[in-house]
This record gives sequence, structure tokens and C-alpha cells, in this order.
Amino acid sequence: MKNLKFFIAGTVAMVLACGTVCAQDSIVKTKKDAELLIPRIHRQPVQSLVPGENALDTIDTQTPGVKIVLFMDNTWKYYRDPAEALKSEVFTRNWSTETINPYNTSLADLPDDIRIWVADTLSEYHCPNQTKVYSAFGIRHRRRHQGVDLPLKKGDPVGAAFAGRVRFSKYSSGYGNLVVIRHENGLETYYGHLSERKVEAGDWVEAGQVIGLGGSTGRSTGPHLHFETRYQGYAFDPEWLIDFETGVLRHRLFVLKKRYLDANSKYVPESEEEEYEINIGDQRDQQVADSLAAVQKAAQEKAAREAAAAQYYTIRSGDNLGKIARRYGTTVNAICRLNPGLTAKTTLRIGRRIRVK
Ligand SMILES: [Zn+2]
Repeated sequence: MKNLKFFIAGTVAMVLACGTVCAQDSIVKTKKDAELLIPRIHRQPVQSLVPGENALDTIDTQTPGVKIVLFMDNTWKYYRDPAEALKSEVFTRNWSTETINPYNTSLADLPDDIRIWVADTLSEYHCPNQTKVYSAFGIRHRRRHQGVDLPLKKGDPVGAAFAGRVRFSKYSSGYGNLVVIRHENGLETYYGHLSERKVEAGDWVEAGQVIGLGGSTGRSTGPHLHFETRYQGYAFDPEWLIDFETGVLRHRLFVLKKRYLDANSKYVPESEEEEYEINIGDQRDQQVADSLAAVQKAAQEKAAREAAAAQYYTIRSGDNLGKIARRYGTTVNAICRLNPGLTAKTTLRIGRRIRVK
């Protein structure tokens, strides 16, 4: 008993000394370190699914609307019957098939942290267009950019990021062919500049289902997907959710911070014009970067050519710069320019190696 008391006291002392429990191998030093050791599903990234599996059979579960789908390759997954999902008021409140952004929510009414399950066992994810981001979200060229621009080729299939119901599928002067999908968790995803729309308002789509083809319709300077993520009509940077270069969804549970929904980023029709100006600006930046790279490359090539053509001479007894210059068909000044510190008056040490060409 005495020993136990000592042990407890010792542990308390240790906790106080370290600020937290010290593990024996001292890898775990802080509470945060310890937390990292506990596998937490909501932190796990989600790979982009490859659509096109062949379903073999569907089995009911005890939960209404939730089924198990069996596939040809003996794999299975949970599946939510869209009819069940559509009972949610998410798909009726602030619902408009005519207005791009039908919300009128005040930012003040939103909580500071909005916890959104972006992928659970019932919902899947597909990267709408895996590529390097060409134009990022936010203020670009002093204009608001409400989404990310993801280059693609005209006609490339564009898949829905998550399952949901198509709320808007129309042509708009700025976005061109635009598809907006509302998801069960309340998020909306926007797909702009499509050459063709493959879904209509009201349709239910699964993650990865082709909703349109890549294009450059509307105010656009070249084929790209303009992709937006919005909550209650407020756009936030899709890169919080998706790593577009790897195609991976960063986590299953997304904590949307109110500060991501910058008040200035709320959709306004003028931003359609801004989108075009942003495209122009980014193209100009790209051209400048390309031409700078070309100039640098040319300079490097010139330096490499000169280095390859360089000739050296080792000073022997009786040499002087005039004699060496004559032998190589050059001048004393030219030799001095090639050898920093060397002048016509420098005493030449036998064995010194100098550049002559
Ligand atoms: Zn854009």
C-alpha cells in the first residue's frame, strides 16, 4: 500500500514535471503526440474512387434505406437509397433550380465551427479532376476567385465529387455550362465552363458519376474546370477539402471554420466577369514565367557552351602573357578578363593554370 501511494505520488510528480505523462521511450512528449497514436477515422484521407464497378446484388440491412451492394470482384459497400436521402429537408429548403445561389443566410447566424462529414461508410468521394491547380481560390489579380481552376481537355469527363442531387444545370454567361450539386451534408459543389452538361436539375448522382464534359464555355480563356465548394451559399477554398494534385480527400470529417467563409467571398453575379479577368491575369503570369524560364534556360545553355569551349594553359618557364596570347590567337586583355585577378603586370608563377579561351 505504501508502495502504491509512492507510485501514485511519483506519477503525479512526473506529470507535473513534464506537463503530461512521459512515456518510457520518450517519443510521446505531449498530449498532441499521444493523440496521433490513436487511429481516428475522421482524420483518415480518402482515395478518389474509380467509378464503373459492376454491382452483382443488393442486400437490405436493418436500417431503412441502407443496403449492402455486392460487386463482381467479391467486394461490397454500404449504399444509401437516394429515395431515403431525399427525405432530408436539405433537399427542399433554399432549393432553386433557377437561381445559382438561392441562399440568403447571414454569416452572423453560422457557428464558428461547422463539422461536416464529407465521407462516411455510406458516402464516397471522387476527385472531380485530378491535376495541379492552375488558379487558386481567393483574391487573385485584385479580384475574388470563388473556386479553383483545374485544367483539362475539352471533352474530358467530369465526375461528381460526392453523391447528391443536382440543384442547378443551366448555361450562365459567366460560368458557361454550370452544374451545381447539393450533398446530404449541406455542402454544394459547382462545376463550371463545361462543354456539355450530362445531368438535369432534380437528378440524383453518385460520387464519380459523369455530370458533364470539360470545356471552356462562358467567360473562359481555355478549357478548365472551375470548381467551387459552398456552404449556405458561402464559398470556401476547395483545397481545404481536396488535394487536387494527388486526388485525395484530406479527411472524412471536415471542420469548416467560419473564417474560411470570408464575407467578401459570398457569391455576387459580378464575379462571373471577374473569373474571366482572373483567367487572363493567370495566363499573363504564366506567359511571363514561361518567358523568364526561357531566358534563364538560354543563359544557362550559353554558359554551358562557353564552359565546354574553355581552354586552359599551364605556365612554363620563360612564358609571358603576350607570348601565350599570340599562341592562342587572342589578346592579353581577353585572357585577363577570363581570369579574375589576373592583370598584364601579374608575375606568372610556373605551374599556374590559366584560362586562355
Ligand atoms: Zn475559376
